[in-house]
Amino acid sequence: MKTILLLTTGGTIASAPGPDGLAPQLSGDDLLALLPGLEKICQPQPLELLELDSTNVGPCHWQAMAQAVWSARGKCDGIVISHGTDTMAYTAAALQLMLENIDLPVVLTGAQLPIEHPETDGKRNLLDAFLAAATGPNGVYLAFDGKIISGEAAYKQRTVGFDAFVSVNLPLAGNVEQGQIKWEANPSPCGEARLLDKLELQVGLLKLTPTSSEKELDFYAEQGWKALVVEGFGAGGVPERLLPALARVAEKMPVVLCSQCRYDGVNLGVYDVGHQAARSGVLSGGLRTAEAWVVRLMWALGNDMPLE
Ligand code: ASP
Repeated sequence: MKTILLLTTGGTIASAPGPDGLAPQLSGDDLLALLPGLEKICQPQPLELLELDSTNVGPCHWQAMAQAVWSARGKCDGIVISHGTDTMAYTAAALQLMLENIDLPVVLTGAQLPIEHPETDGKRNLLDAFLAAATGPNGVYLAFDGKIISGEAAYKQRTVGFDAFVSVNLPLAGNVEQGQIKWEANPSPCGEARLLDKLELQVGLLKLTPTSSEKELDFYAEQGWKALVVEGFGAGGVPERLLPALARVAEKMPVVLCSQCRYDGVNLGVYDVGHQAARSGVLSGGLRTAEAWVVRLMWALGNDMPLE
């Protein structure tokens, strides 16, 4: 029987109603006690790491999670991380990068309703995550509503519905079907596992609107930011009036142009406006989400790694 570590970090799944609404309160043991049938999947081992609404989870917490996973290597067969859904896509992307070539499955999950709620999705999600961690290929995944999503491709699309996460521009890593996981992901490359957990914090994200001004872009160059993700329009359009400022910023730091559209990514070769943006020195965001790029830039600059 495989030993699977449960790292708890808070979120709705572990929340109970308090005087000001839901707040995380349940321990790892509390969560495990609510999962009948788990004993048929694995031997779970709880470890309480954080007790946060994921609204308050950031780079220092990603580092704590990556370090906890790193020190558990060799002591368990897989790891489940219970986490709030709101920023779980950022955490999943960060862990995938920080735990390069990780040599066991690491599976994040959470819930839209607390695990003690009669209609909760938390029990199913947590059981699926344990199943994924016990049977999956090495790597970092997010398990939610029957889908297994590769860390960097995860995106939260719903605030309430159980179908809260999608895999953007990448096929699902796996699907849960009749209590089994049908894995589509190939085993990850077998390079040496490395913990690359430094992060550059001065990475911004600017969403363009039809009224955005050059001042907004210049702010990043003038205030010493180290990298910027710009969410442009469609396949990668930036209004002409912003191009001089875009070039000024791109001279000082890497600027990645992503799309405000969820799917299909950026292709700067399609439109004249895309070509013009490329000439101002921006890099194409390709198929990755803006969230994934923010994290990738933080990680690449922090660890002196290439952007791709
Ligand atoms: N606000 C909660 C959180 O992200 C939402 C959730 O867990 O679903 O922690």
